[in-house]
Amino acid sequence: MPITMPIRAVTLSPHCAWAIVTGHKPEEHRLRRIHHRGALLIHAGCKAPDPFLADGTPVPPNLPRGVILGVAELMDCVERERGFAWIMTNPRRFVSPITCPGNLGLWVPREMTVSCARCYAAQPVDALTEPFTCQRCGRTNSAVL
Ligand SMILES: [Zn+2]
Repeated sequence: MPITMPIRAVTLSPHCAWAIVTGHKPEEHRLRRIHHRGALLIHAGCKAPDPFLADGTPVPPNLPRGVILGVAELMDCVERERGFAWIMTNPRRFVSPITCPGNLGLWVPREMTVSCARCYAAQPVDALTEPFTCQRCGRTNSAVL
């Protein structure tokens, strides 16, 4: 399913962003309810990551920060004892993280580019889950792993 623009993004701690795009963490616990449904870009903020997830899973060293790491589908938001759980499915990690500043709440990235997997030329993307043709080398790439 292609992702259409405008798309929303959320900035999380680098270890939380990594856990979501790699499927380690299907829920994000927040104080606020969220009404958005569908594709949500997962941005890793600039804070130092924790070395372990809450369940004890070790976090890889040198996680990228200040980048959009990937995308997930926000399916539901359910009330929990303290706050809300954002239920996310179908996480996908980008072939190359997209460098951009983060923000508070849900935000809309202005313009996104990914790198061609073969020649590393920056390519504009508007449908992240569909293959794109590189404007420099002409090969077909996918933005997501
Ligand atoms: Zn290329």
